[in-house]
Amino acid sequence: MLRSDMPTSTDTDELVLPTVRGGAEWRSELYRVACSQFHRAADVLSLHPEVRVRLLEPRRAYTVNFPVRLDDGLVANVTGYRVQHTLTMGPTKGGIRYAPDVSLGQCAALAMWMTWKCALLGLPYGGAKGGVRCDPRSLSACEIERITRRYAAELIPVIGSDRDIAAPDLGTGEREMAWFVDTYSQQVGHSVPAIVTGKPTFLGGVEARRTATGLGVVYVTEAVLERLGMEVDDLAVVVQGFGDVGGVVAEELQQRGARIVAVADISDGLHDPAGLDIAALKDWQQSTGRLAGFPRADALKPVEILELPCDVLIPAAVERQITAQNAGRLSCRVVIEAANGPTTPEADEILGERGIHVVPDILSNAGGVTVSYFEWVQDHQRLPWNPKEMSDRLRELLNEAWSRVVDASGRYSVDLRTAALAVSLERVAQAAQGRGIYP
Ligand code: NAD
Repeated sequence: MLRSDMPTSTDTDELVLPTVRGGAEWRSELYRVACSQFHRAADVLSLHPEVRVRLLEPRRAYTVNFPVRLDDGLVANVTGYRVQHTLTMGPTKGGIRYAPDVSLGQCAALAMWMTWKCALLGLPYGGAKGGVRCDPRSLSACEIERITRRYAAELIPVIGSDRDIAAPDLGTGEREMAWFVDTYSQQVGHSVPAIVTGKPTFLGGVEARRTATGLGVVYVTEAVLERLGMEVDDLAVVVQGFGDVGGVVAEELQQRGARIVAVADISDGLHDPAGLDIAALKDWQQSTGRLAGFPRADALKPVEILELPCDVLIPAAVERQITAQNAGRLSCRVVIEAANGPTTPEADEILGERGIHVVPDILSNAGGVTVSYFEWVQDHQRLPWNPKEMSDRLRELLNEAWSRVVDASGRYSVDLRTAALAVSLERVAQAAQGRGIYP
């Protein structure tokens, strides 16, 4: 980059336009969202342009294409990605996503958010994210296994238990992590469980990781409610996304007395102002494969549930769900972001004007990577942690992070997202400046 190309807060627009300069193939709409949030916090900190350059663009963006034999004998060409946002803070860490819309630009934005999330929680990692562009719902288990093994093998030049550690994300889980561990271990000639977190317990995973992200969302929700003088009891909650994260959030909040008035997955929305029975709904989903048809609930389109009246709205599905189009119609007091990137900067602005609090993803869904960190430490120590110790430590770290965010929000007079990012940026910027520039 030329000296005259150095970004400042005034050329944010230029920075995020994908066609302005050569290269930077990772620029995308989601990356624009991440950059916009970044600059807002960097402005608050008056971050030097040189540091902005160093923290903004991903250090490594890796694309792989590989053939996979499908069950019908045909060969498909599959594309996968891995983006490592910063190498300054330690090894990189981040999930692996299987979805049809996975792209380099999506991974770049998600990797950047992982950096800020880890810094906010004080975890010794930089951010990473990877994924394979595929629709796991249309693939057999054998096809997914072949994709996972080949993808893991393709990543070997850039990953390692002290270089870049994977984890589950949308469309992946313990099963894929087990194949990942096995493939990596076969290649290097010895067993390396610490190459991923979120693996099955029989391979060194931890029970607490299964529910960690959802539980973390609940812990943060409790801390936020306490600050706002609200009670969980009889709280009306809407949860978008009924997977690993949304399902746990809905169940745990209901057990604490909240009314889950609506939930949705990608196909169906359900509404019951009296509160859905989440345990029964999970059984229903398990036996029928759908949310649709659940007795005593009204059917809605998935996107419609976002606008239902409630106290707390929890987007726990995918990114860019709350936009300038629907932010003006949201009818909640607080948004707790369980998904990554569910709110666009334009929507943030509207919600801010309407006095709706948005608790940012890098804080509210940080429970997953925090327990992943515990799992990784356990892998390295070869010493199992006590599960109670893990959940107590998780709550403690999230509460400390929440306090830092509240404090920064007051100190800089900014919204919670900008405050959270400012805390993170300050930490990473200090480390980058301290390490200097090689050579
Ligand atoms: P998952 O695949 O288990 O579940 C995703 C859920 O969202 C499914 O119910 C799916 O049907 C639903 N969904 C997808 N698109 C939707 C749409 N347009 N409208 C309504 N519902 C939709 O994934 P997950 O692990 O629960 O992850 C959910 C979100 O949380 C993602 O943004 C992910 O990046 C984030 N996250 C996950 C973890 C984790 O530990 N799994 C950690 C941090 C953040």
